Amino acid sequence: MNELYQHKARKRFGQNFLHDAGVIHRILRAINGKAGERLLEIGPGQGALTEGLLSSGATLDVVELDQDLIPLLKLKFGLNPQFTLHQGDALKFNFAELANGDKLRVVGNLPYNISTPLIFHLLEHADVISDMHFMLQKEVVERLAAEPGGGDWGRLSIMVQYHCRVEHLFNVGPGAFNPPPKVDSAIVRLVPHTERPYTAKNPKLLERVVREAFNQRRKTLRNTLKSLMSSDAIEAVGVEPGLRPEQLDIAAFVRLANALADQPQSN
Ligand code: SAM
Repeated sequence: MNELYQHKARKRFGQNFLHDAGVIHRILRAINGKAGERLLEIGPGQGALTEGLLSSGATLDVVELDQDLIPLLKLKFGLNPQFTLHQGDALKFNFAELANGDKLRVVGNLPYNISTPLIFHLLEHADVISDMHFMLQKEVVERLAAEPGGGDWGRLSIMVQYHCRVEHLFNVGPGAFNPPPKVDSAIVRLVPHTERPYTAKNPKLLERVVREAFNQRRKTLRNTLKSLMSSDAIEAVGVEPGLRPEQLDIAAFVRLANALADQPQSN
């Protein structure tokens, strides 16, 4: 904690500040920033990761929502020409505009209350992002990295893996933070595909099929997709209508979405 400035952690901003030097070092090693790269940190807080990110020699933009943290961040890093501070909401931030033709490496110990919408927002800009390293609730990382067939496999796993390769790097216990969160955490690496393994003709329809299918995950596709497509249409793309959504891989969901895209009334 900086002796010049006492900041009381705010729950509504999801503030759990990292203080374990070993964990901070391990995260920085996983990111492995280099001179010439463009890093973007979401939620720098009191700068636990910021310092090490800057010493890599990369340029660093940070987006912090809490106005009360701005003076401290300016004081600590404001004189470094490689550092740019943006006060605002990462959920509304235009990453493509910032990238301005470059690729960004996005990092952050994310506020857990907004991590899922933030990841979906970032996926909209996946073409300007070379990779992402995030601290998240461990349960969320398990869902991101899940494989078909299990209870963790769902909308988040499918939509993120459609865009990215996912690596669950390591787990972090509550003691690494101040205040300690009530849950375990983990570091995940997301690398947007340069060539997608499968392409949905209309990604909005993929989202819709996945959402409808998992709305009632215990029901069969025949039931949950009834309003979108017939059993015959499901079967026509090689998917058994009696299956439950968690039994389907991404390729099967993409085939369903593409069949739907070919039905004129669905577009
Ligand atoms: N990176 C610091 C660390 O590791 O100690 C702080 C991590 S803390 C879990 C999350 C940070 O994100 C806080 O500084 C919080 O104020 C900030 N934050 C919360 N919501 C945000 C948003 N919508 N946009 C940008 N920053 C946000």
